[in-house]
Amino acid sequence: MLNGFKDKYPELVEVFSIGKSVLGKDIWCIRVTNEKNNTIKSSCLIDGCIHGNEWEGGEAYLYLADYLLINFDANETITHILNSSEVYIIPLVNPDGREENTRWNENGIDLNRNFDAGFGRLLLTRGGVFRLGKVFGFIKIPYFNLGKLGIYENCGRHPFSEPETQAIRDFMMDLEKNDFSFYVNCHTADHCIYTPDETFKPTFEMTEQETHIFNYVLNWVGKNTEYETAGTGINFHNGKKFYDSGMAQDWCFKEFRIPSFVFEILSLDYFPSNVGYPIDISYFGGSKHDHIVHWMQTTIPFFMYLLVNIDNLREWKTPDIQPSLPEGVPPEPF
Ligand SMILES: [Zn+2]
Repeated sequence: MLNGFKDKYPELVEVFSIGKSVLGKDIWCIRVTNEKNNTIKSSCLIDGCIHGNEWEGGEAYLYLADYLLINFDANETITHILNSSEVYIIPLVNPDGREENTRWNENGIDLNRNFDAGFGRLLLTRGGVFRLGKVFGFIKIPYFNLGKLGIYENCGRHPFSEPETQAIRDFMMDLEKNDFSFYVNCHTADHCIYTPDETFKPTFEMTEQETHIFNYVLNWVGKNTEYETAGTGINFHNGKKFYDSGMAQDWCFKEFRIPSFVFEILSLDYFPSNVGYPIDISYFGGSKHDHIVHWMQTTIPFFMYLLVNIDNLREWKTPDIQPSLPEGVPPEPF
C-alpha cells in the first residue's frame, strides 16, 4: 500500500525502511510532503501497532496518509500542511507481532516498555514489568502473572534492547535535526488520548507552560472529538489510575521536549467489560477488530488539529488554530 501511494503521488511520497524487526522484516516509513517545496519544514512522527494485536493504529495512519494525498491541491489547509511540513508515518512498528497477532515482539518483549523513561519500574499496580529477554535465546516469556503484585510484562533486559525500539529511537534522533515537532504513538483497546506520565519523577517534570499546552490540546479533544481525555501528568485507564514504564511517548517527551501523545483508537465495545487489573489475559489473546472504518474516520480531526498547529506545538505556543475539514469529511476510506 505504501508503494502504491508512492506510485500514485511520486512528488508527495517517499517510502523507506527505518530498520528491521527481530525476524528481519523491514519497519517501513512513509514521508508525506510536497517535495517540490524546498522551504524549511517542521516534521512530525505518527506511529502505530507497536503492540502487534492493536491493528487500528496502523490502519488509521494509512487512512491519514491517503486522506492527505487525496486532498493535496484540492483543499487549502492540506495543501499548506504538505507545503510546510513533513509528515512521517510508521504504520507497523512491530511487524512480527502484527503477523502473529500478539502484543509482543518475537522475543516476547513489550516494545512499549522498552524505552528509556522510567524503565523497568516494578509497581504494585498495573504496569509492573520484569527485566528478562528471550531465555536461552528461544524461550519466550512475554506474560508473567504474579497475581496481586500485578507484575505481568517483559520489558527486556535493558532500555532499547530490541531492534524495533532501536530503530524508532534512531529515527527520532534523525528527526530532531529536522525540526521534530510532535509525536503520536497509537494504540487500541481504550478510547482516549493521553499525555506523558509524570509518575517517575525525576525522570522528567513538566513546566507550567508544557502543562498548559497539553491541557489545551486535551480540552480541544474533549470539545471536538468523541475521544476521552485525562489531565496531564496523570493517566487514567477506564477510570483507574494508570502507571506505566518504558513508554515511547514518555521517552520522546523526556528526550526531545516536544508534545507527545498516546492515541488509543478503539471503542470501549472492544474491551471486555469485566476486565480488571492485573489485566485480563483474554485481552492478550487478540481483540475484535470491528468497525475499523469508523475508527479510522474518527482519528482525522485530531490529526488535522495537530498538523495545522505544528509550529505552535514545536514552540510550546497555544495551539489555537482550528482545522478546516474538506466537505464530506471524513471521506469514505479506500
Ligand atoms: Zn498498546
